[in-house]
Amino acid sequence: MIDTHVHLSDKRFDKDRELVIDRAHQVGVKRFIEIAYAPEIITRAFALQAEHPTISLCVGIHPSESGRVPLEYLGELRDHARHPRVVAIGETGMDFYRDYAPREAQEAWFRAQLALADEVGLPVVIHQRSALEDVMSILEAARPAAGGVLHCFDQDVATMRRADAIGFKLGLGGVLTYGHEALDVAVREAPEHMLVLETDAPYLEPEPRSLRRNEPSLLPRVIRRLCELRDWTPEQAIAITTANAKDLFRAAW
Ligand SMILES: [Zn+2]
Repeated sequence: MIDTHVHLSDKRFDKDRELVIDRAHQVGVKRFIEIAYAPEIITRAFALQAEHPTISLCVGIHPSESGRVPLEYLGELRDHARHPRVVAIGETGMDFYRDYAPREAQEAWFRAQLALADEVGLPVVIHQRSALEDVMSILEAARPAAGGVLHCFDQDVATMRRADAIGFKLGLGGVLTYGHEALDVAVREAPEHMLVLETDAPYLEPEPRSLRRNEPSLLPRVIRRLCELRDWTPEQAIAITTANAKDLFRAAW
């Protein structure tokens, strides 16, 4: 399995990060894409990947951080993006659910990161909340050359088809176990090349939500639900989602 979206640098892993990584390896998570979404987190994530050969990085400015990080940081972000262990740009997009950053700042950073992704030839990891139409129309106009993933996908068939039309994949995590009907239908009907796994740990623990923190070793819970929806065996689900993730990130691993 490949966890295509995780925040191992998060403070909530400070006490037991090495155990969390070990547990994930033990259940068969072979690769983590660590999403480093603000300047301080990027610094921490680079230190973490230096200790762990199974961690790759996605670097960017989260929509909620876009109000406090000046656009001048783009030069530094470009340097980070050229590091051999960096496989994607993001998470970027727009979030109008929380108002942590003005809309103009969110859109400016979103457009800047789409341009950066094309410039360095990497896919983009998209975060959107309560901003679906704005985010999709910007993506459809920009058509990022290396594609990307709609992280934490929780939409319907129509959005799935729009994503497929621009070469985007769907990040499936804990939300898939929450019984959202439109999402279930979209995942049943999606072409199999679109489906990748993610945890977004420490957020969004899959059902049963008992641990109050998500971690990559819980990915088998997502696999179980994906198998129910697609009538796949776990082996099939793992083989398909792993191949899709490698394709998305042009992986040599
Ligand atoms: Zn995230």
